[in-house]
Amino acid sequence: MVASCGQVSAQKQDLLFDGAKAYSLLKEQCDIGPRYPGSPGHIKMRDWLVAQCKKYTEDVTTQEFRHQWSRTGATVTMWNVVARMDFGAKKTVLLMAHWDTRPFADQDPSSANHTKPILGANDGASGVAVLLELMRSFKEKKPPVNLVFLFTDGEDLGPGLDEMFLGATHFANHLSASDREIAYGILLDMIGDRDLVVPREPNSDYFARSVMDRFYAHAASLGYAKQFPNRAGPIIADDHLALNQAGIPTIDLIDFEYGPGNSWWHTLEDTPDKCSAESLAAVGRVVESFLRSETES
Ligand SMILES: [Zn+2]
Repeated sequence: MVASCGQVSAQKQDLLFDGAKAYSLLKEQCDIGPRYPGSPGHIKMRDWLVAQCKKYTEDVTTQEFRHQWSRTGATVTMWNVVARMDFGAKKTVLLMAHWDTRPFADQDPSSANHTKPILGANDGASGVAVLLELMRSFKEKKPPVNLVFLFTDGEDLGPGLDEMFLGATHFANHLSASDREIAYGILLDMIGDRDLVVPREPNSDYFARSVMDRFYAHAASLGYAKQFPNRAGPIIADDHLALNQAGIPTIDLIDFEYGPGNSWWHTLEDTPDKCSAESLAAVGRVVESFLRSETES
């Protein structure tokens, strides 16, 4: 018998990611209420997030930035939260998700709701929940790569695209020398949908094709081809574009079919009951396994 070398079989890996734990983290964020810049929930969420990250690493920083918001004319202060886990590896991978929520339900079928803030169970809390549960998993058993967890603020401020992705853009414009060494990034956005389907996002294929090919093949090898079908989905403008433009190939894992015809996106319907522990587990386990099967150089 000849032993094969190379990657550990994905199926044989011991995965620690727990979907139920991730789902309770999603609910905890929603219990804070809406978390858009300038709201009381925003400050509470920032402090909650920093405290969560500190359970898993001492290297937690906030990156403050300001923006004069067209909606009110006032200057709003925002904070990226950056948590680094250095495992002494050669390669570093960036994992990112936005923690702010949309200040207004501008896609709600009822125009009376267009000035109300959304809860952001899927659009906000889901990505953060998965990243925090990944931090717990990797603290318990280290991966073969170093990790930078970037929780961005101001992703969904809006109303227009010119006032979105503010935290990712700020981070990308202030990369340290070590940040420039990051091999690639994975962005999670809207991945809690109880009916989860995450097709290939075309901007990600354009900027980071080899990561996409490896990731989707890995998901299929674990039995998650239904959740991660190997076909193109809609083109999405998201936090990954700023990182790609700064030279860090970054993929966006996003399910932009949230409810029938994406009818729950940016509406008051974006609540925890539309999400599931199983969906969070599918994403978390594939990302965990993908990173555990990375080569060290
Ligand atoms: Zn959004």
